[in-house]
Amino acid sequence: MATGDRKNRAVFIDRDGTLIHEKNYLHKIKDVRFYTRAVEALKKLKALGYRIIVVTNQSGIGRGYFKESDLKKVHAFLARYFSRRGVRIDAIYYCPHAPDAGCSCRKPRLGLVKKAQKRFNLDLKKSYVIGDHNNDFLLGKNMGGKGIFILTGHGKEEIKKIKDTRPDRIEKNLLSAAKWIGKQD
Ligand SMILES: [Zn+2]
Repeated sequence: MATGDRKNRAVFIDRDGTLIHEKNYLHKIKDVRFYTRAVEALKKLKALGYRIIVVTNQSGIGRGYFKESDLKKVHAFLARYFSRRGVRIDAIYYCPHAPDAGCSCRKPRLGLVKKAQKRFNLDLKKSYVIGDHNNDFLLGKNMGGKGIFILTGHGKEEIKKIKDTRPDRIEKNLLSAAKWIGKQD
């Protein structure tokens, strides 16, 4: 390996309700509304040396509500928004399947994370997941890293559903989660 055995760290970030405002089955660029301090949050994580990887369940495709080509346009727009503001998202991975499809990539299953691990040579134990659903922090646990639950999006409703497995941290939003990660090193 060119870089020796040094592995990279990543922060996996949920899309809807975390990076952009929640909207059911969003698939049009005109409906994308970024959280005001999302750029600042991602810049902070980049400065800390983390890869930034968006992971999102998009069952609207599997349910036939919109097409994969719609989603790709939205994701290209999203990536461009951040790169124009000086922060590059390393990758966006999505699960297109319906919840009952039994796939291996719907969060909190590990399919998307494994794909990223291979591509970016990640140490998952030193990586984080941030999101507003229980599936997000559970993904962090499942991969052997840390899961941060945030209270934007569906967070305030989802928090009531937390059962035996607890998030590693509960934070107000993406930016405060990024700041907390900065204190962990
Ligand atoms: Zn899937």
